[in-house]
Amino acid sequence: MVTTDPPAALADAPHLPPGRLETLAERVRDGRGGSASASRTAGDRDTLTVNAPATDERIGSVPACDGDDVDAAVERAREAQTEWAETPATERARVIDRFGDLVVDRREELLDLLQVETGKSRRTAVEELFDVPTGCGYLAETAPGVLSEERRSGVAPGATTATVTYEPKGVVGVISPWNYPLTLSMGDALPALVAGNAVVLKPDEKTPYGALALAELLEVAGLPDGLFQVVTGDGGTVGPALVDAVDYIAFTGSTATGRAVAERAGRNLIDCSLELGGNNPLVVLDDADVDETARGAVQACFSNAGQLCLSAERIYVEAPAYDAFVEAFVRETERLTLGTGYDYDASVGSLIDAAQLDRVTSHVEDARERGATVLTGGRARPDVGPYCYEPTILADVEPDTTVACEETFGPVVSVAPVPDADAAIAAANDSPYGLNASVWTGDRERGAAVARQIDCGTVNVNDAFLATWGAVDAPMGGFGDSGLGRRHGPEGIRRYVESRTVGVSRVGPLTFPDRIPTDWFVGGAFAALSLGRKASRGLRGIKRRLRGR
Ligand code: NAD
Repeated sequence: MVTTDPPAALADAPHLPPGRLETLAERVRDGRGGSASASRTAGDRDTLTVNAPATDERIGSVPACDGDDVDAAVERAREAQTEWAETPATERARVIDRFGDLVVDRREELLDLLQVETGKSRRTAVEELFDVPTGCGYLAETAPGVLSEERRSGVAPGATTATVTYEPKGVVGVISPWNYPLTLSMGDALPALVAGNAVVLKPDEKTPYGALALAELLEVAGLPDGLFQVVTGDGGTVGPALVDAVDYIAFTGSTATGRAVAERAGRNLIDCSLELGGNNPLVVLDDADVDETARGAVQACFSNAGQLCLSAERIYVEAPAYDAFVEAFVRETERLTLGTGYDYDASVGSLIDAAQLDRVTSHVEDARERGATVLTGGRARPDVGPYCYEPTILADVEPDTTVACEETFGPVVSVAPVPDADAAIAAANDSPYGLNASVWTGDRERGAAVARQIDCGTVNVNDAFLATWGAVDAPMGGFGDSGLGRRHGPEGIRRYVESRTVGVSRVGPLTFPDRIPTDWFVGGAFAALSLGRKASRGLRGIKRRLRGR
């Protein structure tokens, strides 16, 4: 495994001026787009220490907010939301679009921040940051249309009309994880804002600074004061308080926490979307180009050191292609570079912390003790960074080992031969999760047919995850234990609105008329109903024939 140096120490960050992290934390303390409760001062509040994963140095601290801070932030957000809801959707979309431009303009500082707080390689940081303006562009273009009022069929065509309008929920709570702190927080917050809501964001304890930097840029883009608040603090304290105070909750994180969030949202009768864990399969069919597939598998398994909800952790290969694929996959994996420097030399960075390193190490050790073969990797690299771990490929993994059954969320994948495509599909579907999958083949139609049989919210043919994740007009989310609801596409915007249907009668009240005997009226109504049903069946038949089916 090739390594690079030096690691990303805070003092060496090329685009972060000294004191920048303190300035960002001040946003929370003084309540500017942050969460400080009006009745408290900075001195009253506990703090949370934030460390840089690449070096384990302490890089700063942020306020450990409590339930009162959450309530104060939501109250301020609620006040700001009233006027924002009245602002035309086209103007709201313009603010989001301007924000996208600012993210591009300020990219070097944001990349430094991302690397400092996550330990990811700069290449991975670029992939993450790219996503934010892409999403802004999509929202600017489509949200006004998705949110505009719609005419639907009335109960009695000609006699009544039905019009649907979409109203913002109010204040949306967003709870985000540490692995992609910019894209996952903005992926939920921006569509909520463009739909006319206020947002209160709780970033992960380990990665608060990126969220605070984006809050600053949203303000510069013209978002009204108070409309977007960041509440830093412990998940077990701030999270439940937020679920209790808001009108909708968008959660991204582990399945265990997602269940707790959903239970609480259910008690409060608020809606939620949950983007949760996965144990994603990658299927290699016997007609795949093994070299191309190996390059794709490397991206699928080791992007962001495997700390990606869409990462492949299980590979099933049709037997005739197994040996050639494994050889190419090991070769490509060993060409990866491990490191955390501020240049583009490293492809794979650090894990987030000691707990994540322990998890990865214990999954690999458990598999090894139970007879697994380590084809490459399988060891920590403290010489590169305190939490660095080599990209690892395992074979001969027993089906009941932790690595096979649970999400590792690290740079570890198991590979196994299967007799045919049906066996690969069955193995892929043998999981309580259903987030993302990838299918590799020389025959795209065969790939699409296999993809339709895999129980995941997104399935990529001849690509790791970008073909679906990058298709921002298409919904993205999980089956089963991988979550509820969808981000991206019109679905990702509409989750943040209530629909209101207004029905208007042009013929007075739709009730029994008083000038016709009721039994005549009932007979006539049923005759009209049957005639209407026959007519629409006939029309459907004609349309089908015209379409050639
Ligand atoms: P986590 O569930 O521990 O934490 C996620 C967030 O929830 C953090 O902000 C945390 O502070 C907060 N939180 C903690 N306790 C809470 C509580 N009781 N109530 C409300 N919020 C609480 O997740 P993690 O382990 O840090 O993140 C990794 C997990 O996230 C993995 O399982 C990964 O697959 C998943 N993930 C999913 C997606 C997706 O889009 N499906 C994306 C990224 C990560």
